[in-house]
Amino acid sequence: MTLEIAKTFRCHRCGNCCRWPGDVRVDEREIARIAALLGMSPETFIARHTRLTHDRKGLTLLENADGSCRFLHADNSCALQEVKPQQCAGFPTRRAPGYEHLCPGLNDRLREKLSSQGGHDFQQPPVAGPGRD
Ligand code: SF4
Ligand code: SF4
Repeated sequence: MTLEIAKTFRCHRCGNCCRWPGDVRVDEREIARIAALLGMSPETFIARHTRLTHDRKGLTLLENADGSCRFLHADNSCALQEVKPQQCAGFPTRRAPGYEHLCPGLNDRLREKLSSQGGHDFQQPPVAGPGRD
């Protein structure tokens, strides 16, 4: 599957994945890096930009009312590009179930496979250069 994704996936930089509602998990190290980029303390970043994940086991970036990420620019670039969370860097294999139907970078075969796995392929390492970047 990894090879298949690596061979066929082409990001169109449409930003659909960053507009798809769902948790974007951030751990302590990621928070420290993002906070440093934004010039604030980790505590301030947590208070201003995160909430509990739906499973209440960690923190996720806050979303806009329409579900899009607050760090997505109008041109579909990411304000956190240099320090974006691993979940985003691992696209297209680590996003909330359902995103695969909105991603034009996946061919039909991959879309069907990911969909049958609930949208995830957690066994696989990140693929370089996909959306959310
Ligand atoms: S990963 Fe898919 S949905 Fe996200 S920007 Fe690339 S093509 Fe669009
Ligand atoms: S890649 Fe950037 S804009 Fe997209 S969800 Fe991740 S942090 Fe937000």
